[in-house]
Amino acid sequence: MSTIEMPAPDRSIIERRGEIIAALAEAAGEENVISDPAETLAYECDALAAYRCPPLAVVLPHTTQQVANIMKTCSRLGVPVIPRGSGTSLSGGALPTADAVVLGVSRLNRILETNYDNRFIRVQSGMTNLSVSDAVSAEDFFYAPDPSSQLACAIAGNVAMNSGGAHCLKYGVTTNNLLGVTMVTTAGEIVEVGGPWCDPAGYDLLGVICGSEGQFGIVTEAVLRILKKPEGARPILLGFNSSEVAGACVADVIKAGVLPVAMEFMDGPAIIACENFAQAGYPTDVDALLIIEVEGSDSEIDEQLAKIKKIAKQHKPEVMRESESAVQSDLIWKGRKAAFGAMGQISDYMCMDGTIPTSQLPFVLGRMSEMAKSYGLAVANVFHAGDGNLHPLILFDANKPGDQEKCEALGYDILKLCVEVGGCLTGEHGVGIEKRDLMDCQYTEADMEMQMRVKDVFDPAWILNPAKVFPMETSHSRRTHNQPEKAA
Ligand SMILES: Cc1cc2nc3c(=O)[nH]c(=O)nc-3n(C[C@H](O)[C@H](O)[C@H](O)COP(=O)(O)OP(=O)(O)OC[C@H]3O[C@@H](n4cnc5c(N)ncnc54)[C@H](O)[C@@H]3O)c2cc1C
Repeated sequence: MSTIEMPAPDRSIIERRGEIIAALAEAAGEENVISDPAETLAYECDALAAYRCPPLAVVLPHTTQQVANIMKTCSRLGVPVIPRGSGTSLSGGALPTADAVVLGVSRLNRILETNYDNRFIRVQSGMTNLSVSDAVSAEDFFYAPDPSSQLACAIAGNVAMNSGGAHCLKYGVTTNNLLGVTMVTTAGEIVEVGGPWCDPAGYDLLGVICGSEGQFGIVTEAVLRILKKPEGARPILLGFNSSEVAGACVADVIKAGVLPVAMEFMDGPAIIACENFAQAGYPTDVDALLIIEVEGSDSEIDEQLAKIKKIAKQHKPEVMRESESAVQSDLIWKGRKAAFGAMGQISDYMCMDGTIPTSQLPFVLGRMSEMAKSYGLAVANVFHAGDGNLHPLILFDANKPGDQEKCEALGYDILKLCVEVGGCLTGEHGVGIEKRDLMDCQYTEADMEMQMRVKDVFDPAWILNPAKVFPMETSHSRRTHNQPEKAA
């Protein structure tokens, strides 16, 4: 049983399935349309796998022009479109509805231009995050945002969700590293927004598009800032006997103005799962572990680590261990990056994503553990502590009646707590379907109305990625109201 409601599909669209598939084949080529139900099943969900619905059809174009043809076709026929990168969204952002066409960009996966002199790369949006860094690595460059899903997730999804990652504390998230996009509008126009230069004239539409969760247009290309690799980097492991003390250490490091490149937190259950999975050399007899990485020249690294160690000592760590080699550093990160997979091996879980002011970490970690106890559920924590970006993994048994509902209710309470302490509903996974019905905890009606007016401009008929981001009733009535014949 699941608790997040999806709108009933429009039967009149489903009845026209044959006509729609024929029109898609004309727009994008028959070989790029998937209509066999056995094959569309692969697109029925994303990484919020508790929610599933096979789409009407899937189309996988090779070119921006084909995307434009598809959007013209779907707009003309009034068919909802679900943009999809690699389907790793944890908030149900790429979940289809039965009356919608999934438009996947996985075949748009080429590098179009690499410009080391001016530090940018132009790629098609279906390229995976990691393959961008890999492509420039030989010249000692990298692309900074590094979601833990970077092996699989696409730049398209990163742009739509404004994704972050472990190393975003210093370098910022996608929006801070995105210079421009090519986007296809719902009407099928191809538009360029931003570009490789600094601060383009006109409104900051790029800022509006980045994080718009597939609701404004189909991003087919992106211009990304690439950075020269630092001279060196070194992580340190700090083990503490409670999560609250580790949280207080994070808050003090941030308060002192030290800026590590990454500052990651794991609690006891997460440490054990990751260690068993990756043999990263983590101490398993502590209740909380911080991985703090600094970078620069050897002397810069030594200087920053000295400051961090001085602050950490005030919190009496059980373990304080600097990496002594590149192999050790890789292992430390291998363990952290495998966290979600490692937890998945031992239990079903739901990964929440909220942000709080770092000064609230000790209080929120303590409160979350009390809340989990009151629900009779276990929570493992692994998150980007330096940004205050929490990822409580709530463990549950999908085969036990009522457990998923309990898990979602606890998740909602945790997200509300994030808002109550001055934080917000999402750090990097987006709203999707998962948090859509909580938006009114954070925003007033006027706040949401303003956001929906922006959606009206980009997508007047609300055919792009429906039932996401705004509470279902609100977005459904907006969509109904905006249908061309009703608006006339
Ligand atoms: C194990 C694991 C670890 C993760 N770790 C992180 C992390 O550290 N940081 C983080 O930020 N996220 C993380 N995520 C979440 C997820 O990987 C990111 O949100 C990622 O950016 C999604 O990319 P995707 O290509 O898979 O997008 P999808 O899941 O396919 O889609 C995500 C959203 O983007 C929209 N979209 C897709 N393509 C387009 C397009 N061409 N144009 C317009 N909109 C589009 C979709 O409609 C949807 O709303 C993790 C997920 C998993 C499973």
